[in-house]
Amino acid sequence: MGRKEYRLILDFIYPRRCPVCNEVLPFGPFRICGGCQDKLSFVSQPVCMRCGKEMEKGGFDSFGAEEYCLDCMRHEKSFSGGVALLNYNETAKKLMAGLKYKNRREYAGFLAGEMARRHGKKILRFGASALVPVPVHRKRYRERGYNQAELLAKELSWRLSIPVKMVLSRVEDTQAQKKLGYEARQKNAAGAFMARDCKGMGNLLLVDDIYTTGATAQACTEALLAAGAGKVWLLNMAIGIGRS
Ligand SMILES: [Zn+2]
Ligand SMILES: [Zn+2]
Repeated sequence: MGRKEYRLILDFIYPRRCPVCNEVLPFGPFRICGGCQDKLSFVSQPVCMRCGKEMEKGGFDSFGAEEYCLDCMRHEKSFSGGVALLNYNETAKKLMAGLKYKNRREYAGFLAGEMARRHGKKILRFGASALVPVPVHRKRYRERGYNQAELLAKELSWRLSIPVKMVLSRVEDTQAQKKLGYEARQKNAAGAFMARDCKGMGNLLLVDDIYTTGATAQACTEALLAAGAGKVWLLNMAIGIGRS
């Protein structure tokens, strides 16, 4: 029995359900129902040139100045730019929660496919040598058994022909964190990251599921740059809406 037949039998016994509304899906390659697909909002132009967030149309400087969202104008960001797939609306929220907490690992394939199809050319122009997933805490990894960012990176990897490199790790609350001084610990409060030597790796693509405040992306970027990476670019599956 081939893989395809096996899949069909599995679909018959355990029908696949839409990860957003839980309706049974028809046979075929799609893993989200048509209704929910329509409720997804894909990021469209104009976007912030730094974080890739969708901006209000006509809401930016009419003199043609650089287009950055308020957050990227106010706070220093060390990454060079980024691409985001979905606006983080209610539907995207449900979907990302499924991927992250409900073991809907298959959803990573759908997201990576859309990302590669819609933004593949732009992503390749970043000239990155590797996809670097944002790591999760070891404790969370043990609880869930997977890291959603790693799943996404792996699904993107074969579609874009860019290898995945696990160069980042979380500074756990134990020994590593204790070695840091007070200030360094404060700075790392939001989630500390360490990168192993990145010299000679050139540009890197940081992969994560959601971009909200950008604190994680910034912390990871700083760690990668300090470890010798060239430029760091972001790939986020969902991103906050608006100019904030
Ligand atoms: Zn649905
Ligand atoms: Zn921005």
